[in-house]
Amino acid sequence: MEERKVSERGSPMRRRKGATSCATLIAALAFVSAGSFTGTARGEPQPPPTPNAPAPYAQEIPTGTPEGLAEYLTFAFGKMDEYWKNHFKQQEELTGPSAYYSLILPGQESVSRCLPEPIQANTQNYFYCAADSWTNAKGTTYTGGIHMPVGSAMDLRAETSAFAVATVMAHEYGHEVTQEYMTQLNLPGIVQMKDGAPVLDENGNIIPVKEAELIADCFSGNWAKYAFKQKMVRNADLGQAVRALVSAADTTIGAHQPHGNKSERTTAFTMGYNTGSPLKCAQQYWVTHPWP
Ligand SMILES: [Zn+2]
Repeated sequence: MEERKVSERGSPMRRRKGATSCATLIAALAFVSAGSFTGTARGEPQPPPTPNAPAPYAQEIPTGTPEGLAEYLTFAFGKMDEYWKNHFKQQEELTGPSAYYSLILPGQESVSRCLPEPIQANTQNYFYCAADSWTNAKGTTYTGGIHMPVGSAMDLRAETSAFAVATVMAHEYGHEVTQEYMTQLNLPGIVQMKDGAPVLDENGNIIPVKEAELIADCFSGNWAKYAFKQKMVRNADLGQAVRALVSAADTTIGAHQPHGNKSERTTAFTMGYNTGSPLKCAQQYWVTHPWP
């Protein structure tokens, strides 16, 4: 299936078939106005859950079915939200991320403002869209949609582990973290810059750089460290997590979606894991901002 992403001017850009890399639209969507989610009941948007069991519980969830994997990813998303909300809370001027997520089970689909067509359960990709928003029945609005096709995630789980799939989800959440920093602190995007302004391609689109993906890998490593400390994951799963992430490395994907090569992605995740420091990730990869 062919993936598409929408440029800031609204024209779809074709992407390579079958790529397993995430499609991030963070930079390109800086100018797309957010609106309410109008998708019908399918891959239902969900607010971040509050994990109501200790993290080792996750190891007990049977993930051999899409429903089981969805339960696992729901728990993992709650742990991501918990980690990052705690991190943002430590900085006075910041408020926590407000992303929602959508797990797309076989037979379901999910709608994103970033894509012209609904995402299917077997779509070979994972998505973060900064322009997505969703208001729940209580009137709470969430901005930033993470879409996980659970059908195809089952294949990734079979090749690696359920935690590895969660790590890919944490990469998508990493884009949300970048977006929140960018919006709340008015930071420049991680894009090609020249003379203090974003460089545009021939179609007038801003051009992301691989560091925009590598920082999400690094943030994913930050979360993996947290998950490990909480005993959500076994040590052996960490190698599988790295393999899952780098399986998305695809340097032929085109200039608009550079992810870095396998070595770079491994280094980014490992740095995030070993340091457990989002600031270190920012210092290394947020190349358009002079971090202290
Ligand atoms: Zn990404």
